[in-house]
Amino acid sequence: MNPLKALGGTSDILPEEARAWQQLEHQARRVFHLYGYQEIRTPLIEEAAVFTSSLGEAAEIVTKQMYFLEDRGGRGGRSAALRPEGTASVVRALIEHGLDRTAGLCRFYYLGPMFRAERPQKGRRRQFHQIGVEVFGSASPHQDVELLLLLKRLLEEWGLNGWKLRINSLGCREDRAKIVEHLRAALAPQAAKLCEDCRVRLEKNPLRILDCKEERCRELSGGMDLFEGVCAACKENFAKVTEGLERAQVPFERDPRLVRGLDYYSRTCFEVVHPGLGSQDALGGGGRYDDLVELLGGAPTPAIGFAVGLERVLMALESAGPKPPEAAALPVYVATVTAAELPNALQLAEQLRRGGIACFANLEERPLGRQMKQASSLGARFALILGPDEVKEGNVTVKEMQSGEQKKESIADAIRRVSDGG
Ligand code: AMP
Repeated sequence: MNPLKALGGTSDILPEEARAWQQLEHQARRVFHLYGYQEIRTPLIEEAAVFTSSLGEAAEIVTKQMYFLEDRGGRGGRSAALRPEGTASVVRALIEHGLDRTAGLCRFYYLGPMFRAERPQKGRRRQFHQIGVEVFGSASPHQDVELLLLLKRLLEEWGLNGWKLRINSLGCREDRAKIVEHLRAALAPQAAKLCEDCRVRLEKNPLRILDCKEERCRELSGGMDLFEGVCAACKENFAKVTEGLERAQVPFERDPRLVRGLDYYSRTCFEVVHPGLGSQDALGGGGRYDDLVELLGGAPTPAIGFAVGLERVLMALESAGPKPPEAAALPVYVATVTAAELPNALQLAEQLRRGGIACFANLEERPLGRQMKQASSLGARFALILGPDEVKEGNVTVKEMQSGEQKKESIADAIRRVSDGG
């Protein structure tokens, strides 16, 4: 049998890398707490309609990338899907639990895996991880500014430099419909020159032609200023957002060609890119989706959010150079001279852990030298060695791993010393 491997576009996060992930998550949670966001956890599988109704039947994320599942244990006939993104599920949960009617302003964050059937390449995975936020119940342009301040703070907390924030507005639902019609009419005579995908997009989702990977398609739509089609109220709203960003010193660039692929966006939309990422240069993106809650059957509720891809955050951090080495991973290793001390080692380890000191106890019958090698490879600062004499006397030998110095002490003194770290 061929050796079993992780599927292409998915990967294991081994303990060494997991530390970096934990740190990102920990830093993010701290920032979210500062801004009054609470965690929400939704299932990784949903009824497919949660995504098809919100992202749009024609969105490529639905037509090309979503994993549909046979819902064996589920409600007859309804198909399930692996979540390709977080917003639709959070909106479904908001409505299901009546929070759109009862809770007023809600600020949520989520983190976890998302799934898209991509052809795997650098920065494009089939299982990847996002950290995202959603705010419900505020249409204020100041909310847009605060959300982007939070995004900036998050990127700073992670130690990312060199990123760029691009923003645009596609106006309200009515504006967007007009812009789409205008784009369709303008591009229809050129349809034959568009790539195959864009000929379909022209029919179903012409905005996507603006960020097609084919230079030719982008050129054909090149002269269009979408912002011209935005109504006066939405233009004024966008001016408040950009003024607010200037005042708050959030650096940004206006990008009149920026569109987001999903149907649900309205008004402000944005993307953060990083030069260390190569061709897939988006770290994250988001925007307003003021109509989505109502569209999915909830009370009219303005909303805004963003999602950042964690694999890409780690790639961008790596592109900036190696990280400084981390501090010792484990304070204490409990070693034994003979097999007779193994129960005492277990007991001492439990005593240490009750006192909040992390430790690794040798539980095998094997020479002390091998145990010391393991202690070093685990990064232990101290080894506490138990031999027949120590057990008889109620002592333990404390070895400082780096200097090699060792000294017999009472168990109480040894615990005090390792917990003080010196
Ligand atoms: P999107 O919802 O497509 O705007 O995605 C938001 C962010 O998630 C992107 O900016 C990426 O950082 C990340 N992302 C999206 N798709 C993938 C993927 N297939 N593999 C890795 N990261 C992704």
